[in-house]
Amino acid sequence: MSDERDEPPDDGSSDPAEAFTYNGGRVDPGESANIRYGISETYLGDPVRIPVTVINGKHPGPTVCLSAAAHGDELNGIEVVREVAHDWDHSMLHGTLVCLPVMNVPGFLAQERYLPIYDRDLNRSFPGREGSTSARRMAHRIFTNFIEPCDLGIDFHTSTRGRTNMLHVRANIEKPSVERLAKSFSSNVIIAGEGPAGTLRREATQADVPTITVEMGEAHRFQRRLIDRALTGVASVLAEFGLHPDSSVHWPGWRTVIDDDNEKTWIRADAGGIVDMKRGRGEFVREGEVICAITNPFKEEDDIVTVEAPFTGLIVGVLENPVVYPGNPLCHLVGLSADTRTALERERTTESSQSDLRPAGQTE
Ligand SMILES: [Zn+2]
Repeated sequence: MSDERDEPPDDGSSDPAEAFTYNGGRVDPGESANIRYGISETYLGDPVRIPVTVINGKHPGPTVCLSAAAHGDELNGIEVVREVAHDWDHSMLHGTLVCLPVMNVPGFLAQERYLPIYDRDLNRSFPGREGSTSARRMAHRIFTNFIEPCDLGIDFHTSTRGRTNMLHVRANIEKPSVERLAKSFSSNVIIAGEGPAGTLRREATQADVPTITVEMGEAHRFQRRLIDRALTGVASVLAEFGLHPDSSVHWPGWRTVIDDDNEKTWIRADAGGIVDMKRGRGEFVREGEVICAITNPFKEEDDIVTVEAPFTGLIVGVLENPVVYPGNPLCHLVGLSADTRTALERERTTESSQSDLRPAGQTE
């Protein structure tokens, strides 16, 4: 088969769309492919293969990677990536989408966060290395074939099992290319920072593939409202970078960037017990307001430990499984500027809001 393209670019551009190539195959402009790509082998010698969908638009444009389930039990992102890959109309796509809905296949099969092979964390193993541990070899196959060839990346996560996160972006916004990507995703909250060594977003960004993490909800669930919000974010990114030129960038209504200057803390339990959580994900709390009470098995009044907000802020992450040892995290609280507080209060009264904020007690 010839590698020569016999068709001229149909938009008259001198910069025609290019084939997407990986070790073992190629996807030409105007084509899409569902691939099962081998990244390891099981104890039985069978291949461990990750699902990959590559959609190469007819028109030239950037290559964007959408990835999920680096932690095998974090499911919300899987549905985001699948819907973009298979439910959206990409007939006018300018560029290429590389969709990796389930990266940690062994963890996904076991419904566990880590690779169930010596409990390795795939999301601390990037960019990976041939000849190294099983996790790094898998990371290497994924990274070299499907991450490095991209121009941008969005990696979807949820909170760890037993906790939940409001939808937010984590990004090293000191890099202008990452900042542009982070802001175009249309989340209310961006937490700044480069992330731990070995995470996909840090190592991809380091390798000149600006990449953000999107945190959304809890493990072991499809949470429709959060999935829809993330899909709005993806559409907004594709508009910002010209992949869907007819779409528009979405403004989330208000935005706060949490950096080292902001107050932020994981509030931890100082007593063991059963937690009566009073506040939810995405809620605004004032300094001194009660966030939760830690109780003993007999609900004895004298033994109740109440936990108050140490400063006014937003609950970005919160405990769902209501039991703690001393030292366990109860909630992730971030401080807000006065302007953001005003915008947030205004939005709370607007019913048409797309925010993750919800009245106390309401569940998804
Ligand atoms: Zn994760």
